[in-house]
Amino acid sequence: MSETAKNIDLPPSGEDTEVQDASSREVSQGLSLRTLQTPGAIPGYQIEQCLGEGSYGSVWLAREVRTGKKVAIKFYARGRGVDWSLLSREVEKLAVLYTSRNIVRLIDVAWDHDPPYFVMEYLENGSLAQKLEQGSLPVEDAVRITRAMAQALVHAHGSGVLHCDLKPANVLFDASGDARLCDFGQSRLSTERTPSLGTLFYMAPEQAVLDGIPDARWDVYALGALLYQMLTGTAPRRNVGSEQTLQRATTTEERLAAYRRLLEESPRPVSHRSVSGVDQRLAEIVDSCLERDPQLRLANAQIVLDLLDQRDRAKSRRPLLILALLGPLLFLAAMFWIAESAVPRVVQSAEDNLASRALAGDSTSARILALSIHQEIVTRTEELESEARSSHVQKIIAGSKDLNAEQLRDLCRGTAGPPELADSYRKLNQAKEGDGDRHPDRSWFLTDVEGRQIFRNPVSEDLKESTIGKFFNRRDYFHGKGKDIVDPIPKGSISPRKTPGVSAAYTSEATGQYAIAIAVPVWNEEKTEVIGVLGRSLHLPDLLDRWEKPLHDDATGADQRFLALAQIDSEDDSLFLLDHNWMNPANMKSHMERGSKSKEPRIRISTEQSQHLLQERSTATYIDPIAKLDPRFDGEWLAASYPVEDSKWIAIVQERRDIALKPMEDLRHLFYRSGYFAITIFSVMLGVFWVLLRRASE
Ligand code: ADP
Ligand code: MG
Repeated sequence: MSETAKNIDLPPSGEDTEVQDASSREVSQGLSLRTLQTPGAIPGYQIEQCLGEGSYGSVWLAREVRTGKKVAIKFYARGRGVDWSLLSREVEKLAVLYTSRNIVRLIDVAWDHDPPYFVMEYLENGSLAQKLEQGSLPVEDAVRITRAMAQALVHAHGSGVLHCDLKPANVLFDASGDARLCDFGQSRLSTERTPSLGTLFYMAPEQAVLDGIPDARWDVYALGALLYQMLTGTAPRRNVGSEQTLQRATTTEERLAAYRRLLEESPRPVSHRSVSGVDQRLAEIVDSCLERDPQLRLANAQIVLDLLDQRDRAKSRRPLLILALLGPLLFLAAMFWIAESAVPRVVQSAEDNLASRALAGDSTSARILALSIHQEIVTRTEELESEARSSHVQKIIAGSKDLNAEQLRDLCRGTAGPPELADSYRKLNQAKEGDGDRHPDRSWFLTDVEGRQIFRNPVSEDLKESTIGKFFNRRDYFHGKGKDIVDPIPKGSISPRKTPGVSAAYTSEATGQYAIAIAVPVWNEEKTEVIGVLGRSLHLPDLLDRWEKPLHDDATGADQRFLALAQIDSEDDSLFLLDHNWMNPANMKSHMERGSKSKEPRIRISTEQSQHLLQERSTATYIDPIAKLDPRFDGEWLAASYPVEDSKWIAIVQERRDIALKPMEDLRHLFYRSGYFAITIFSVMLGVFWVLLRRASE
C-alpha cells in the first residue's frame, strides 16, 4: 500500500488535506495505484523526477525542451471526467493569480491530455514543511514567511480566491529563498458556496464541517497556525494526546467533530509567548489569528499585514526610545556619581583646609595667651618686689615683732593700733587693691623671717579661722623649695626664700578652683638679709578671665571656643587641667565631693592627647577630658597649645570642630539640596519627555 493510500484509510497524521467524500477518496486510491508510473511523454517537456504527491495528483520536475528551463508539472492522475473539474478548479485560480510574486506561477495547461496536467514554475528550494522538520525557525524568518503568505492571501482574496488549505507543505521556496503559496487544489472563489476541507491543526473550527461556506477568515486562522508552528515547532494544539484522539475517529465526519471539540475544549495555545524574541505585539497577532470565534478573529490578511508593519515600526523605533531614555539616565547616573563620590571628597579636602586654618588661628591665640599669662605673672611679681622694697613693709615687719595675733588682726582691719604702724598697714592694704583695672588678687600676705603671718588682706571675720599670727614656714611660698614640708621641723631651722617665685598650683578650699601664690623675699634696708616674705594669691580662673572674651565672638558661644590651662605632671609627662570653662566653683565643689578626700582629683588629659598637645602643639581631633564629667563637652574639638614660659603650664585654645567647619557643612547641605532638587526636576522632565516621545511614536 502506498503512503498516500495509507494516510487516507488510517486517521490522518495531520499533514494531509481532509478529503470531502467517498468519491474523492476513490480518486485518491486510484491515484495511489499509479504513483510509481511516470506520466508518460509530454510534447515539449522532458519529465525528470517526481517532486511530490498530493491527494489528487502528482507533481513532476520536467525540462522545457525548447529553453532547457526547469518546470514543475502537476498531473491529475485519473482519466478525464472528475480530474478535469479538479484541474480546472486549480488552474482557473492560478490563472487569476498570475501576477502575484508570492504565488507559484502558471505556465501552461493541457486540458485534453491524459492524464490532464498543468505546468508551473519550478520552486527549487523545498517546502516549509521540510524546513520545519528541523524544528522552529528564528523569529524574524517566521515573520518574513508569514508576511509573504499574508501578501499572497491579500492578493488572492483581492482577486476573489480563498486558498482554504494553507499549511507548511503548501508553502514552497523559490530560487531566491522567498516563500510562495502553492496548491490551490482546495481553493474556492469567494462567491462559491461549496465547502472545502483544509488540514487538521491548520483548519479554523468553522471550516471543519462538511457544509461550511468558504470565508477569508479560514485563511487567517491557517496563517496564524502557520506562524505559531514556525515559532514553536508544532502546530497549535498538536500533541501526542490530541493526535491520538483524532486517530480514534474512523470517519471524516467523526474526525472533524473530534477536531472541533479539541479546539473548543483545549486552552488557548501559549507556547509562542515563551519563545525568546517573540514580543507582545507578535504574540497578540498569533492570538488574534487563532481566535476560535471568527467574529473575534482578524477579519482578513491585510489586517495581519498591517499589524506586522506596526510591529516592525515599533521595533525599529525601539533603539531610539531606548537611547532617549538611556542617554538622560546615564547623565543622571553621572550626576549621582558626582553627588555621591566626588563632592564628599572635595568637601573633605576643603574641610581639612578649613580645619588647619582654624587650627592656625587657635595656635596663634594659644601663643599670645601663653605669652600674656607669663607677662602677667612677671608683672605681678615685679609689683610685689617693689612693694617689698617699700618703707611701710619694712616698718610693719619691724613694728609687729611683739604684737599678738589679735593686735595684728586689728591693725590689718585698721580698727586699732599705734598710728604710725596703722598707717603702714593702710598703705599695704591699698597696694593690694591695685589699680582696679585688673582682676584683683584673692589675698595678700606678709610673714616675718620665721614664717609668722603678720599681715593678710582680706582678714577672716571669724577669729578662729583667721590665719594672722600663725606660722607658715612649711609652705612652699615661704621657703621656695618646690613643695610644702610635712615633717615636723625645729623652730628657726627653715629659712625664707631668697628669690621671687610662683608656687605650685593648689586647689583653693573656698572654691575648689586652682590657685597660685606669688611670693618675693623682703630684704632689710642694707639688702644683706631676708627679713620676711610678701605674697599674693590668685585664682587661675580670675587670671585667665580677661583673655577669655576675645576668644569667642557672638556667633560662637562661650562653650564653643575657649582657653584652658593645663599643667604638665612631671611624673608621667601627661597633662591635667588647671582651668577650663567647666571648672567653676559649683562644678568643682561637686567634683571634689565625688572624688576621694585624701587625693586631689585631677582632671587628666589622656596620654595620647597630651602628647599631641605637647609635641605637635595642635590636634584636629581633640577629646576634651571634661566630656566624661559633662556631656556638653562631648565630641571632637580642634585644639592648639603653647607652653607658658618659666612654668609647667601650657595654654590650650580649643574650639568645636563642627562649629569651625560649619561653613563647609552648610555648603555641603546647600549642594545636596540643590543637587537633589535638580535631579528630581530633571527626572520628572525626563519622564514627561519619554511619555510624550512614546505617544508620538505610537
Ligand atoms: P497536492 O494538491 O497533491 O497537495 P501540491 O500542489 O501541494 O499537490 O504538490 C505536492 C508537492 O509537490 C508539494 O508539496 C511540493 O513538494 C511539490 N511541488 C508542487 N508544486 C511544486 C513546484 N512548483 N515546484 C517544486 N515542487 C512542487
Ligand atoms: Mg499540497
